[in-house]
Order: sequence, then C-alpha cells, then structure tokens
Amino acid sequence: MYDLIIIGGGPAGITAGIYAARKKLNTLLISKDFVGQTGTAFGVENYTGFEEIRGLELMKKFKNHLEKFEIKINEFEEVKEIKKINNIFEVKTDEEKYSAKTIIVTSGRNPKTLEVSGEKEFLGRGVSYCVTCDETMVEGKIAAVIGGGNVGLEAGLELTKFCKKIYIIEYALKVTGDEILQKEIENDNKISVITDADVKKIKGDSFVEKIIYEDGKSKKINQLTVDGVFIEIGAIPSVGFAGDLVELNDNGEIKINPRTCATKTDGLFAAGDVADTRDKQIITACGEGAKSALSVYEYLKSKKLNP
Ligand SMILES: Cc1cc2nc3c(=O)[nH]c(=O)nc-3n(C[C@H](O)[C@H](O)[C@H](O)COP(=O)(O)OP(=O)(O)OC[C@H]3O[C@@H](n4cnc5c(N)ncnc54)[C@H](O)[C@@H]3O)c2cc1C
Repeated sequence: MYDLIIIGGGPAGITAGIYAARKKLNTLLISKDFVGQTGTAFGVENYTGFEEIRGLELMKKFKNHLEKFEIKINEFEEVKEIKKINNIFEVKTDEEKYSAKTIIVTSGRNPKTLEVSGEKEFLGRGVSYCVTCDETMVEGKIAAVIGGGNVGLEAGLELTKFCKKIYIIEYALKVTGDEILQKEIENDNKISVITDADVKKIKGDSFVEKIIYEDGKSKKINQLTVDGVFIEIGAIPSVGFAGDLVELNDNGEIKINPRTCATKTDGLFAAGDVADTRDKQIITACGEGAKSALSVYEYLKSKKLNP
C-alpha cells in the first residue's frame, strides 16, 4: 500500500510529487500524460525564472526534476474510479487497482472549445484560451473575446490595458456576466459587444486575421478584422472519477480548504486547476501542489500513519 497516490502529472501533480518524495512518502503518481494544459501553451512568459519558454519544454523540465526523486510514476494510465473502504483509498485505473492511505487529485481541466474551423490551426498564433497568459500577444492590436459570461467580460476589461480595440462576442441575445461588469463594459469606449452572434470560422494566413460569424436574427454572415481571439467559454474540470468523495462548486471544481487543500473526505486532497482556487496559473498550481503534499505529510503524522 502506498502512503500517497497523486492523480495527474501537470504542474500541481509534479510539484506535489517532488515535495512528497522529499518527505520520504511512498508515493505513486498516475497520469494520462505529462503534457497537461501547460504543454499546450505556445509560450509561457510568467513563470518565475524563465523569461520565455515553450509550455512543452517547461513540462519536460518539470518531469526531469521529478524523476530525480524516488517516486513511482505510471504514465499513460487513466484513473477511472476512487473509493474509500475502511479508511483505505482504492484507486482503479484502466490497467490496475492500487491502494493508498491518502490521495491528492491534481487532474486539472480542459478549456471548452468552439469547434470551429481555424481554432486548432491558429492555436498559439492568435488563438488563445487564457488572457492572463497571452495578453501581450495583442499589445496595441485588435482582439476578440468569445463569450460574454463573467470570465469573458473580465477578459475584455483586462485586454483594455493592452489593445486598441476589443470585441466581445456572445452567442446568446445578451451577455450573461454580472451587472457590475456589464456596466464597466458599457462605459469603456474600447469595447464593443456583439450579441446573437454565432462564430463560424477563424481565418488568417500565418496568424489570425479575421473572425467570421452569423448574425442570429438576419442570418447574415459578417466578418471582423482581428489580431487575436480569446476563447473564454468555460473549462471542464476532470473530476468524474472522484464520485461523491468530493463536493463540487457551480463550476464543477472540487471544493477545498484553501489553507490545506483538504476536501470533504478525510485523507483526500486536491490542488491546481481541478480545485476551486481563484487563480488558474502554472505558478499557483505548483504552489498548491506543494501545499497539498505538505498537508498530506502533516495528516499522516497526526493520524500516526507516517512511514
Ligand atoms: C492554452 C493554454 C495556455 C496557458 N498558458 C499559460 C501561461 O502562459 N502561464 C500560466 O501560468 N498558465 C497558463 N495556462 C494555465 C496553466 O496551464 C494551468 O493553470 C496549469 O497547467 C494547471 O496545472 P494542473 O497541474 O492543475 O492541471 P493540468 O495542467 O490540467 O494537468 C492535469 C494532468 O492530469 C492528467 N489527468 C487528467 N485526468 C486524469 C485521470 N483521470 N487519470 C490520470 N491522469 C489524469 C492530465 O492528463 C494532465 O496531465 C494556460 C492554459 C492553457 C489551456
């Protein structure tokens, strides 16, 4: 039986693994891959110590660091279910069953995609799912934000610091973000809101140049000239396997105690983007990964279960 099983090999899981190994916990880390969301980031410019680095390269460095420690790593394995039976966690994957005294869930999330032509093709070349990560890409330029919920409206306001013009494009008849944000948007002359608009295509040459959308009422096809497109229509946390061992918030994220990363189930912790943390960044995921492993160590000590 393991002291700890970590589910997920993104920044949160890898950092949790490093901290657990340094505390000499007998740890298994299971992950479908070591790419995570960070691996899909074209360029990362806000991780301390690296002025600019490709997301995949950063993930390789993280993994190499983890492999310096004594920790069992099962890559290309997917966790399907976790259960707690007689105070022991049972983890079922697509290959095996394992047991552990504690669990840290760091399975992250996946941004919702528009599924339109040009979206995949221009990812990292004008298309982004993260304003905080890629706002400098549109400095002094024109950007579009797809999605008029809170995240989309906040993204639009954030972009006013960088862009000369921002379009917020919403599929519904009106934007759905908080009224206070709607007021701020109305009062900002850099932002135009286009509602009842169904984005059909993102076009360009080597970089994004245009968005093509259909007006819901007239069915007319329109186009906007833009330099960047931020798709802010939500994200889906990967939590299905945890069942009722965890409580979720309205966004489907695992509710945790922000001081310890503890969930509603004793011995089960969660960290990184899968948890109801405010900020979804590499550096915060790493910080919470570290915190969760230290909490596991304290938990095992307090229960006299430590190795
Ligand atoms: C396109 C893009 C660009 C970004 N750019 C930046 C940036 O420039 N700077 C920044 O700070 N942040 C950026 N972010 C955000 C950042 O990538 C995330 O905040 C960070 O990766 C979260 O780390 P995590 O470990 O919580 O989850 P993730 O990175 O999502 O990793 C989760 C891991 O768990 C694995 N997993 C999921 N389910 C299971 C399962 N059932 N069984 C086994 N394994 C499983 C996944 O395969 C994955 O390896 C970006 C995000 C995106 C999408």
